[in-house]
Amino acid sequence: MVVKKTELLIIGSGAAGLTAAIYAGRANLKPVLFAGEQPGGQLTITTEVENYPGFAEPVLGPELMAVMRKQAERCGSEIHDLSVAEIDCSASPFRVKISDGAVYEARSVIIATGAKAKWLNIPGEAKFRGFGVSACATCDGFFFRGAEVAVIGGGNTAVEEALFLTKFASKVYLIHRRDTLRAEAVMQDKLFAHPKIQFMPDRVTEAMIGTENPLKLTALQLKNLKTGASETLTVDGAFVAIGHQPQTELFKNQLSLDAEGYIAVKPGTTETEIPGLFAAGDVSDKIYRQAVTAAGTGCMAALDAIRFLERD
Ligand code: NDP
Repeated sequence: MVVKKTELLIIGSGAAGLTAAIYAGRANLKPVLFAGEQPGGQLTITTEVENYPGFAEPVLGPELMAVMRKQAERCGSEIHDLSVAEIDCSASPFRVKISDGAVYEARSVIIATGAKAKWLNIPGEAKFRGFGVSACATCDGFFFRGAEVAVIGGGNTAVEEALFLTKFASKVYLIHRRDTLRAEAVMQDKLFAHPKIQFMPDRVTEAMIGTENPLKLTALQLKNLKTGASETLTVDGAFVAIGHQPQTELFKNQLSLDAEGYIAVKPGTTETEIPGLFAAGDVSDKIYRQAVTAAGTGCMAALDAIRFLERD
């Protein structure tokens, strides 16, 4: 079998992976990037992006990622619409097996596999995604001016999203399956003090309901766990905020992950505990999770990799 060799292999094609590819390409490293199962990453499942700097008018998420990819290719990156099936991080160079059976040896690797929002997997949720149902208030909240919306979840993300949505919505319901929130006390204080927010504890969302033409969410079917009663809550939007799942399966038992599965990096860098292995974007960021911060850490990872390759 022919083993291909590369100085830098990048796993993932979201904002982090592609930005790393742009910088590494411009440094003549000829990076090889594997785009994974969802080329373009999480931005390809949003509609309009208004908060990515450089665009006076909103840009469609898939369009932004398509342009970023072209830019990475123009700068000298080789991009494949394939996934990494296996990686052996125990020895340098890293041995990487691709989904089509090809094998690479890479002196350095940037992990930019991202994270996926967790979904409830209830009837109607997938159908109305992008039509009233979202997993990102920062991305989509702006479209709900004057509307009534619900946030589902009880952690910091849910509370933060509920508070953020009060900037646009006329009413925000926070639906949680228990009567106590997991979010930090200071966040809870802000939540309970806000006149637009109504906390709806002890409720499970069982279904999302809407119209066909136009396709649009109109209500949530809830079950009150205290009374056992079914309730219909009329809303224009629903934000699922029950956590994110970093995509780190490839690295289990090879890298230390934190309790939630995120890759730990040395503060202020993208270095993992293994020399030559770097992590950027949402796979190592559970706080910010923005396209622009992912792009920022993608740039850092490329610069860290360039320095590593020059040194070793
Ligand atoms: P968490 O895991 O902290 O919270 C998830 C919430 O969703 C929990 O309240 C949980 O309920 C609920 N939930 C999970 N699954 C379901 C389900 N199937 N149906 C209904 N509800 C469900 O995730 P977060 O995204 O909120 O936070 C992740 C990490 O990021 C945390 O460490 C958090 O502190 C951090 N973070 C920090 C921020 C900050 O510092 N500003 C901002 C955002 C996140 P239950 O409580 O019953 O388990």
